[in-house]
Amino acid sequence: MQSMARTKSKTLSLVVPCFNEADVLPEFLARVRNVAQGLRGWQCEFLFVDDGSQDATPDLLTQEAAKDPRVRVIRLSRNFGHQRAISAGTDFCTGDAIIITDADLQDPPELIPDILRKLEGHDIVHMVRSDRRVDGLLKRTMAHVFYRVMRRWVLPELPENAGDFKGFNRRVLVVLRAHRERVRFMRGAFATMGFRQTELRYVRAARHAGRSKYPLRSTLRLARDAVFSNSALPMRPGIYAGAFTLAASCLTAAGVSLYAATGGAVASPLLIALLLALLGACGMILMLLGFAGEYLKILLLEVKQRPLYIIRETCNVDVAARAASESSPEELLRT
Ligand code: UDP
Ligand code: MG
Repeated sequence: MQSMARTKSKTLSLVVPCFNEADVLPEFLARVRNVAQGLRGWQCEFLFVDDGSQDATPDLLTQEAAKDPRVRVIRLSRNFGHQRAISAGTDFCTGDAIIITDADLQDPPELIPDILRKLEGHDIVHMVRSDRRVDGLLKRTMAHVFYRVMRRWVLPELPENAGDFKGFNRRVLVVLRAHRERVRFMRGAFATMGFRQTELRYVRAARHAGRSKYPLRSTLRLARDAVFSNSALPMRPGIYAGAFTLAASCLTAAGVSLYAATGGAVASPLLIALLLALLGACGMILMLLGFAGEYLKILLLEVKQRPLYIIRETCNVDVAARAASESSPEELLRT
């Protein structure tokens, strides 16, 4: 009995957020099934989160789930965005090891055995992109600036060039599930969690088919959420500029008073300079008001406590079992 328990295979959950990915899913499934076949001692679940797709993604996933019980599907009621779709997946997966991966095969499934090996001595494996040529110059430059700013001023622990392609164990999953913030940057949650973290470098492949579901606007929005939800950095220039403006205006007032008192005529260039300084200060104040509004918006979203995502239907997902394994401090201590 005891030896049976010891040899019992563990479960690997692949969490796959999908938004209009019908073109890539057949190839994705073929490749992950192939990899799963070679995994000794692991049984797999492929947990797809359909993030409000409008193409054939939901039908395709439902058909696959009917044929293969390892294919599990959570269909969200609308598009909630990549970060929340990941959370729906991590909330409902049942694995001892969990790997988050994109559906478009940019994260090669053939790396799964390497990730599992690394997880034997670590809690989190960040997959670091050693070659991002497929991403294009603009995206690469933006990523470079983003990671520099983030690591220097916001989250020094954030691994550079690691996206959401990660492997982790159940202990991490329990802590991750406790992160319920509405404005989400999942990479930040992993980075600040502690435990034993490591990196594995890989070459990011080109998208198998279709177009990126992360247009420039969404990328910028994610960067904004990452900064604003993790620090007060945007407000900091205001403190320095405010102090500088105050000091400069006091000095100017003293200088002008002294000059006028000694009989000097105040020349118009000085007035123009003062006007420009005033305009600059007004611009800065308005900008900071905008930033403060951004923080208020985040507070409002968090205070409202609306659901992170809404599920429309599921296939092969045992919702009751998930409720029973709700994260609790006891579970955390057990892992
Ligand atoms: N995705 C999602 N919801 C969205 C946008 C994207 O679930 O609102 C999924 C998408 O289907 C893919 C992953 O997130 O599996 C990453 O998206 P994509 O590959 O388009 O991003 P990129 O690699 O171009 O940054
Ligand atoms: Mg992609």
